[in-house]
Amino acid sequence: MTDITRYHRQTLFHPIGEVGQEKLANKHVLLIGCGALGSSAAEMLARAGIGELTLIDRDYVELTNLQRQHLFTEEDVKNKIPKVIAAVNKLQVINSEITINSVVMDATADNLADYIKKADLIIDATDNFDTRFVINDLAHKYRVPWIFGACVGSSGMTFTIIPGQTPCLNCLLKVTPVFGATCDAIGVIGPAVQMVVTHQVTEAIKILIDDTKHIRSQLIIFDLWNNHYQSIDVSRSKQANCTSCGELPTFPSLSYQNQTKSEVLCGRDTVQIRGKQYSLGDLASMLSKYGEVQTNAFLVSVVIDSMRLVFFHDGRTFVHGTSSIEEAKKLYYQVIG
Ligand SMILES: [Zn+2]
Repeated sequence: MTDITRYHRQTLFHPIGEVGQEKLANKHVLLIGCGALGSSAAEMLARAGIGELTLIDRDYVELTNLQRQHLFTEEDVKNKIPKVIAAVNKLQVINSEITINSVVMDATADNLADYIKKADLIIDATDNFDTRFVINDLAHKYRVPWIFGACVGSSGMTFTIIPGQTPCLNCLLKVTPVFGATCDAIGVIGPAVQMVVTHQVTEAIKILIDDTKHIRSQLIIFDLWNNHYQSIDVSRSKQANCTSCGELPTFPSLSYQNQTKSEVLCGRDTVQIRGKQYSLGDLASMLSKYGEVQTNAFLVSVVIDSMRLVFFHDGRTFVHGTSSIEEAKKLYYQVIG
């Protein structure tokens, strides 16, 4: 039984109240990505008492994450804990009265639909547009609202997308240049992340308690360092013939196999290879001849020729230390045989 004293200040806030709090307790939010945006949004939503959260992420915690990614610690870095597992471990002690699901997975058109169907709302906390277009199509196919968010440097942008009402990401990109659409490596500061999350979570709460008249219809763009704030009316950018949200949608991100076998991870000096699934135990013994093998329940890692290979239980491998797919594959096949 939930002790609502926990939510006293939030229920005193008139637009939410006890009725809104009750609604939040019965809602399920899906967070796709559990890096800077995802971990902060998850913490805020857990504290706010959303009944069920599902976190999906493909990555594990690294030292460069700690500067801006909430919930993670040096201990998580040391043990190479997958981000969703590290996040859930913290979230469960922040709020033990809600349900939190963690999924270590690379979100794709093939595996995301089942999660989206079950959610009341999606928070975009990804770092790439391929995944965002998949989210955009699935969200419209299954009529689930989603909140786009992106940040780079000291800038951020966010937009609330409600199927059947607002323009979608596809429409938006036709009229507005959206940053982060290319692989940029200019860094990011923590406050820019928090500013995006603040907008995303506020919109999420409005949607979850059905306060439709307060939902923001403008695209927000800001640059904290250069003191620019913009709120842009994009309502007229909705295209009747949009392939994702138009009258006859074809959902292009879902209709063909756009899942590449290998890809360079943006700004990471890392290549991801999707291959055969091996048991982590077998991998650990096979890799031991190359050097010290580090292993946990989710992954096995080893350093070879100054490149670090990290094998995940779902058949994916990260090759750190290169941005060349050729070079990464060469080492991968040399090791796997
Ligand atoms: Zn559209």
